[in-house]
Amino acid sequence: MDWIRLTKSGKDLTGLKGRLIEVTEEELKKHNKKDDCWICIRGLVYNVSPYMEYHPGGEDELMKAAGSDGTDLFDQVHRWVNYESMLKECLVGRMAIKPAVPKDYREEKKVVNGMLPKSQVTDALAKEGPRSPSYDWFQTDSLVTIVIYTKQKDINLDSVIVDHQDDSFRAEIIIKDYSYIIHLGLSHEIQEDLSVRVVENVGKIEIVLKKKENTSWKRLGHPLENHDSLVPKKGLHYRKCQLISKEGVTHDTKLFCLMLPPSTHLQVPIGQHVYLKLPITGTEIVKPYTPVSDFLLSEVKEPVILNNKYIYFLIKIYPAGLFTPELDHLQIGDFVSVSNPEGNFKISQFQELEDLILLAAGTGFTPMVKILTYALTNIPSLRKVKLMFFNKTEDDIIWRSQLEKLAFKDKRFDVEFVVSAPTSEWNGKRGHISPALLSEFLKRSLDKSKVLVCICGPTPFTEQGIRLLHDLNFSKDEIHSFTA
Ligand code: FAD
Ligand code: NAP
Repeated sequence: MDWIRLTKSGKDLTGLKGRLIEVTEEELKKHNKKDDCWICIRGLVYNVSPYMEYHPGGEDELMKAAGSDGTDLFDQVHRWVNYESMLKECLVGRMAIKPAVPKDYREEKKVVNGMLPKSQVTDALAKEGPRSPSYDWFQTDSLVTIVIYTKQKDINLDSVIVDHQDDSFRAEIIIKDYSYIIHLGLSHEIQEDLSVRVVENVGKIEIVLKKKENTSWKRLGHPLENHDSLVPKKGLHYRKCQLISKEGVTHDTKLFCLMLPPSTHLQVPIGQHVYLKLPITGTEIVKPYTPVSDFLLSEVKEPVILNNKYIYFLIKIYPAGLFTPELDHLQIGDFVSVSNPEGNFKISQFQELEDLILLAAGTGFTPMVKILTYALTNIPSLRKVKLMFFNKTEDDIIWRSQLEKLAFKDKRFDVEFVVSAPTSEWNGKRGHISPALLSEFLKRSLDKSKVLVCICGPTPFTEQGIRLLHDLNFSKDEIHSFTA
């Protein structure tokens, strides 16, 4: 908030009195000191010196990119941060375009620092990454079907994200660390709802659009940014979702239900999160949240709306926090932007799994909800699922009775609550994550059973848990930690 206030103060944060300049590489290199630090991100140059003291990662992290192109470093650490909005008052200008050193005389192309021209990105990928998909389309009187041939086997409905908003049709197919993008201004109007089918074994995707008028289309549309190209997954695409309901779950945690626009297809894969974005005092603020499934919800209320159009979030409101109080102030019917999913949890980790152990603290419980649901319903080899759930007090435990009921119903599932600041009535386990608490709990159901331990909570909790797991001889492959 202090940073936002400073950017709104009218102070000249670039030292250029509002002028934007073209920055050469030589010029950029000169600005490499704390009190005069320029950084290039995706071709735009920012004077980050005034931001130094507000950077949550500290000055040293920012200084790693001083006087240079920080795009890769930025993408590695927090590519979801909306730097354009956060740093707009620090914008110095664009990198000057310079001719690339041609590989041979026929190849004289231009390179912009921090950004390769689209064709070159796609060319480079064609050599290193997956084979580029292709697309085609056909129509009937009432429908237009876009067919994408990904030439990949592990494509499913989670891999396809489709949006149609403001005359722009955009489909993104996630293929490992790349995105294949169809991005068009459609030649004719379509109805709001669309459907997506995937033929998994051949990697074929069909997106079926309903025509508004039954006329014959001569062409599908005109290409927009990145159309028909395979690009490294970069940046995040957002769509506005409507707040449908908000219910108290504990004294400070609420269940938010958001509805996707009718012309969006988006499924958040297990173990992944999305970013929610809200304008707060004129700046777009973005924070990550992990959707939960309706499996445990069905214990809460009947009937449940079982439909991919709704995304549920369990979110703790911090009264002194930046984002959650704003989210909490939203009224039913208000909008919040939701990004594409992110995360590195792989469903293949469940293959042949026999024991699943979940260690969660506070809202670190959120990724465990879908994991638990999926494992209990889809993994035939699974013998035991155990959740150890750490909270400050009894009142902080999210969905306690639902979890207890589930443990009662499904003998494969056990839950253990641990409380760090219990009342005198608490009869259960107490304290913080420790060898004493873990050693018995982590015992496998069979001597050599295949095990996966998932851990999520405040960063120090997760780090401590990983150390203890290593001490107890769990290998790297047997641990999945959810971190920022
Ligand atoms: P912040 O402004 O970040 O503040 C959080 C707390 O820290 C507050 O108590 C605040 O008073 C205190 N604080 C802030 N600044 C300072 C300071 N300078 N000194 C001392 N104290 C300070 N959360 C959920 O509830 N549900 C989820 O599903 C969920 N999923 C997540 C997924 C991922 C991958 C990650 C990384 C985090 C997830 N989180 C989730 C946490 C979430 O992203 C936010 O961090 C959280 O909601 C707090 O946001 P905030 O802006 O309201 O609070
Ligand atoms: P919290 O209520 O503050 O803490 C939950 C429990 O963890 C408490 O018992 C607490 O003990 C304990 N704890 C805290 N710090 C610890 C430490 N250093 N060592 C051992 N135990 C510790 O938690 P919260 O406010 O809900 O926060 C949840 C966290 O999970 C947030 O940081 C959020 O970002 C993170 N999260 C991450 C993801 C992800 O996917 N990466 C998803 C969801 C949430 P005390 O109360 O005694 O300190």
